[in-house]
Amino acid sequence: MEEFGAARWIAEDWQGTMRKTVGVLVMEHIAVGLVEGGKVAGPLRRYPEKGDTADALLSMPADRIAEVIRQQIAALAQGEEVHAIGLGFPGVIRDGVVEDSPNLQQVKGFYLEGALQGALKLRAKAVPVRVFNDADTMAAGIAATRGALHKLNRVWTLGNGIGFGRFPWTEGVWEGGHTVVTLDTKENFCGCGGRGHLEGILGYRAMRLRFLDLEPEEVFENAKAGDSRCLEFVVLCHRALAAATATSIHMEGPGQFYITGPNATFIDVDLLDRLVHEMVKMSPLQGSRFEVIPSSDELGIIGAAVNAERAALPA
Ligand SMILES: [Zn+2]
Repeated sequence: MEEFGAARWIAEDWQGTMRKTVGVLVMEHIAVGLVEGGKVAGPLRRYPEKGDTADALLSMPADRIAEVIRQQIAALAQGEEVHAIGLGFPGVIRDGVVEDSPNLQQVKGFYLEGALQGALKLRAKAVPVRVFNDADTMAAGIAATRGALHKLNRVWTLGNGIGFGRFPWTEGVWEGGHTVVTLDTKENFCGCGGRGHLEGILGYRAMRLRFLDLEPEEVFENAKAGDSRCLEFVVLCHRALAAATATSIHMEGPGQFYITGPNATFIDVDLLDRLVHEMVKMSPLQGSRFEVIPSSDELGIIGAAVNAERAALPA
């Protein structure tokens, strides 16, 4: 069930086409790179360039974000023959519209793909642009760099928000970070306002709201040192991620799950594995695997390019 019909196309043709594509990843900052043959070619561009960037996009209006992305793409692609532009953006993305983005709320309802049309031209024609959910682009980037484009790849991205991505890209909402993992009505820290959500427990912003006296990093350190309140919370985090993963397994079957994003290092894969085994008991659903992958802009950029090539260019 893990094999897909597009596998042959990917293996034989996609690796062989050395068309250049621009990949863009928007998470806490904007990162742009030129992708060729499934690899980043040349240096990345980043906005803002350096320093404390966590809040740079939070206060920026949607049309200004689009303008900055256009400028970054234009500067990167100068003199290059680019065939497609792919972009990963946090939120619910449908037909190029950001339908909702709990952590960048000013972009809600914005037709981002439309705002980026015409950012580049090739032989007097506008280069096609495709916008995807950021976690979906991470899943595509991980699949592309691990030779796993023929399999189902799922990824959790742990940051201020909790993203859920899958490759191959499939039409749908896939807001796995908002999976309900508890019926406790006091669990209301999720950025979307919903009760009992995974992000309301494991999201960075939610952790800061829960522990007003400790930073999330200190909570995980204290747990290692045996502090019972912190330890209890760390187990809760792992149970929440295991529960959301178990739901995905019960809906789509077992397989490979990756954990990435700035807070992936909080996760103990062995503990997560044990908890998932307690939650998934049917024999055909056994055999899922977990791997923590350090967060990198490159993976999202490659994934955005791979998804855009598959969506916009003829095989
Ligand atoms: Zn939520």
